[in-house]
Amino acid sequence: MVGADGILPLPWLEGPVAQALSTQRAHALLIHGPKGVGQWELTLTLAQAWLCEAAGGANQRKPCGVCASCKLVQAHSHPDLLVLLPEALREPLGWSSQDDDGASEEKAGKRKPSKDIRVDEIRQAISFAQTTSARGHGKVVVIHPAERMNGVSANALLKTLEEPPGDAKLLLSCSAPDALLPTIRSRCQAVSLGLPDPAVALPWLAEHAVAQPEVMLAATGGQPQDVLEWVNEGIDAKLWVGLPRQMARGEVGTLAAWPLPRVVDMLQKLCHDVMRVAAGSAPRYFPLSSLPGAPSLESLTPWSRELGRIARQAEHPWNAGLLVESLTLQARESLAHRP
Ligand SMILES: [Zn+2]
Repeated sequence: MVGADGILPLPWLEGPVAQALSTQRAHALLIHGPKGVGQWELTLTLAQAWLCEAAGGANQRKPCGVCASCKLVQAHSHPDLLVLLPEALREPLGWSSQDDDGASEEKAGKRKPSKDIRVDEIRQAISFAQTTSARGHGKVVVIHPAERMNGVSANALLKTLEEPPGDAKLLLSCSAPDALLPTIRSRCQAVSLGLPDPAVALPWLAEHAVAQPEVMLAATGGQPQDVLEWVNEGIDAKLWVGLPRQMARGEVGTLAAWPLPRVVDMLQKLCHDVMRVAAGSAPRYFPLSSLPGAPSLESLTPWSRELGRIARQAEHPWNAGLLVESLTLQARESLAHRP
């Protein structure tokens, strides 16, 4: 994924990359923000900038994209860059070329790819950081997402975070900073990555052939990478704007094929929007014209509370089919009450 200028993977990262490079003063950065806005790409671009060998060095606003070091990062073969990803993320992020002792077992179907960053991988990263830089521009360890380190892994990393050896730098990225040990958070300089400006995100979505990008950007809460994911999974603007009335009619329809957390997320957005409309505000996730007439706030409050309760447990092994049916019935009843 390389942007139009061939250097930045996502156009809205220009500001955050320049900002992070000019304010960075610690050896360890923690990049955090919502998902779907390019945390992984920002992290990797900062690693590339630190290792970049173009003239201008530390003063540049972004990596040059053309020097030998930048090419090595892009080819996933830079000797001074170590990227730690859970096995389960390597293929989706296109980063499976690392030595990967689990890969053959995984392919043989013996076990599911791990979602965790294991302690032996952290130890490997620590010894990597302690060796001399091969190209003389320091060393960089990337850990993504940092909340996938378990307690043992995180503890193993603490000392290295406090006093990174020699010229090593660490980049942690994370969409749930609360899930990290406070001692990890306090040892890193925080870099926050917010939602991109729609003026930059919308043309990017249009370039990626997304129809009605403004509807989809609003649907995902402003997270453009999620839009591409949704479209790939068959959720487009036409389907999205049809959902409120489908729920008001109590029809499960395509929701039967959705993962449960996504159904709950959609219903929470719908409930949020009808509550806003009932209170006289503009909806945030659905176009106003797609919403059924606003029911009373009293009937929406218990619905909102119930959805919140289910959202907190949405990873649980529910009988998803039955739950989606009962959620749809509940949506119909909650939307049917008129003031
Ligand atoms: Zn370069």
